[in-house]
Amino acid sequence: MPADGARLSYNRAVNLLNADLHCHSVVSDGTLQPEALAARAKANGVELWALTDHDEVGGQQRARDAALALGMDYLSGVEISVSFAGITVHIIGLGLDPENSALRQGLESTRGGRGARAREMSDELAKVGISGAYEGALKFVGNPELIGRTHFARFLVDVGACADTSEVFRRYLVEGKPGFVPHRWATLGNAVRWICDAGGMAVIAHPGRYKFTPTEEFALFSEFMAHGGRGVEVVTGSHTKAEYQKYGDMALEFGLLASRGSDFHSPGESHTDLGALPDLPGKLTPVWQALQHRVQRA
Ligand code: AMP
Ligand code: MN
Ligand code: MN
Ligand code: MN
Repeated sequence: MPADGARLSYNRAVNLLNADLHCHSVVSDGTLQPEALAARAKANGVELWALTDHDEVGGQQRARDAALALGMDYLSGVEISVSFAGITVHIIGLGLDPENSALRQGLESTRGGRGARAREMSDELAKVGISGAYEGALKFVGNPELIGRTHFARFLVDVGACADTSEVFRRYLVEGKPGFVPHRWATLGNAVRWICDAGGMAVIAHPGRYKFTPTEEFALFSEFMAHGGRGVEVVTGSHTKAEYQKYGDMALEFGLLASRGSDFHSPGESHTDLGALPDLPGKLTPVWQALQHRVQRA
């Protein structure tokens, strides 16, 4: 915040804006309602906010209304699951029209296989002696179409198989561990197209989380841009300080805009709270500079 405490305008100190453009509600795998997230973001000093549920825009209207009522600027958002080079990659869409029908159909098709996958995950867990996982995970689900690994992780903590969800994602549900079921998500090209055609900007989410070789990572960035993608998350709850530096440098090298978001899912579960992130480095151009015309102003 500037010394005078004045509200930051988009014309000055643009990198210092407390923008949080990545989080989840009960509409996907978070535990708070959109209204509660908006209130928490506001209380934490967030000035520009986006709810980015996985593969679903059903919470957008509520998030926007709550943000504007609290005097907080809003960008619509989504986080699309994509399969690229055999790995799951997440692509954030910002400033899109949540009513766009091609986007909604694309997201619906992306959500499609989750129920069958969840039953397979449950069968895999039963093989290592953990029974009732499907029914157990369902108890943590806000939106049955979005059942996913986070809900299974909460179930595994609930039954005492693991102490917390980060232990779950070391011991279960990941490649080579019990309960992992590979899945075919959207293609990179389709996800970027759905976002762009709905008037939004596509952003690579938390690139530091993917276990790509440098060649594969270069291919992801290049193909993403060739499809029309324009941004990359640099400051996120999923990155280390070294990764802020690495992906800040890659943003400059590729001419990508930089984004900032906590990826907050739940109090007590997420280590980074809404808005509680370092500033975007001054040398980078923030995504919100290019998205000014898409911001819904309080
Ligand atoms: P799914 O879309 O069902 O494959 O679930 C992916 C979700 O699992 C992510 O969006 C995160 O919320 C959660 N997740 C994946 N890996 C981890 C991890 N290492 N620690 C905590 N949560 C994770
Ligand atoms: Mn998630
Ligand atoms: Mn993600
Ligand atoms: Mn996320």
